[in-house]
Amino acid sequence: MSANVYFWNLRATQKAPFEKRMRSLLKAAGVEKLLTEGDLAAVKIHFGEQGVTGFLRPLWLKGIIDTLAEAGARPFLTDASTLYVGQRGEAVSHSMCAARHGWDPLVLGAPVIIADGLKGGDEVAVPVNGKHIEDAYIASAVAEADFLVSVNHFKGHELAGYGGALKNIGMGCASKKGKMHQHFSTGPEITVDNCTACGTCIKACKTGALFIDEATEKIALNAELCVGCGGCFVACRFNALNVNWKIGVQEFLERMMEYTQGVFATKSKPCLHINFVMDVVPDCDCVGFTDAPICPDIGVLVSLDPVAVDQASLDLVNAAQPLYPSQLPFGITPGQDKFRAIHTHVPESMGLDYAQALGLGTREYTLISL
Ligand code: SF4
Ligand code: SF4
Repeated sequence: MSANVYFWNLRATQKAPFEKRMRSLLKAAGVEKLLTEGDLAAVKIHFGEQGVTGFLRPLWLKGIIDTLAEAGARPFLTDASTLYVGQRGEAVSHSMCAARHGWDPLVLGAPVIIADGLKGGDEVAVPVNGKHIEDAYIASAVAEADFLVSVNHFKGHELAGYGGALKNIGMGCASKKGKMHQHFSTGPEITVDNCTACGTCIKACKTGALFIDEATEKIALNAELCVGCGGCFVACRFNALNVNWKIGVQEFLERMMEYTQGVFATKSKPCLHINFVMDVVPDCDCVGFTDAPICPDIGVLVSLDPVAVDQASLDLVNAAQPLYPSQLPFGITPGQDKFRAIHTHVPESMGLDYAQALGLGTREYTLISL
């Protein structure tokens, strides 16, 4: 069975401007019927890393926030801390980054709450019992919210191929430990030169997998004892232990989808997914810069099905005229896979087949233009 995906192609008039169009999309998706008076509604967003200019404009969310509030909910804007060193690695810098990018509670009518607490450890373990993940570590403010709206800047992603609803939920709603859990499968990558032999990671490692090598007097790993928990990354303050970001992309995508399943398991009603297919750049809003878009702005897609909304967005991006100059190789024609032309390491379905197999939604959709 196909899922409904509601689509607005960005045409607007004085009588039907941006906010009114957004409200129509939400109404068509039936969001008001899903809300109960007093619901704490998490609006999962990416506030944009420092240096990024292509993140979603805060005012684009005004109609979404107002619709939730008018239906009786108490919306809040949220994201969880990142693994990498940047402006979003803990709650203080993250909140300030959001403020600098215009996410103002007094303008938008919703506060910014960093979902996994001060240092990224405020989490809820959710049983998933998947192929890779037993317990998913979900940021507590997301897990405890009564309703979840994922508001997604649809674009490319340097590891996953693309970023949309499924990634914003699976990766974006995971605590720091949860993010490690998804990225990490073969043990830490050690940068020996950075190691001061302080021993902090040895104390953090519950399985005794780390030790100081007598010959080098630096940290070393007994891979047979490592269970991939990622605890040592947090412990090391010298950037000596890192994720090998490019290993096992298919497994990484499957882990991310199992985390998405974990987030949904915390909710008693369907979640709402909104893809802004605008400023379709090759990489994530985490990278610290915004490159040229690879296709024209396409529109806004809304659905209760995260797989359908991502599949529909991908299909529209691929069907669109390629834009140059951009990271796209020359010679791409409409219909060809744009993201995989840039991120060539990513498998063809980019995790959507696994998401469908897990029951997160369907790749079959009916696009309804409003
Ligand atoms: S990932 Fe976990 S088990 Fe492996 S070395 Fe680090 S702390 Fe130890
Ligand atoms: S915490 Fe970092 S610097 Fe200290 S021993 Fe471990 S790897 Fe080396």
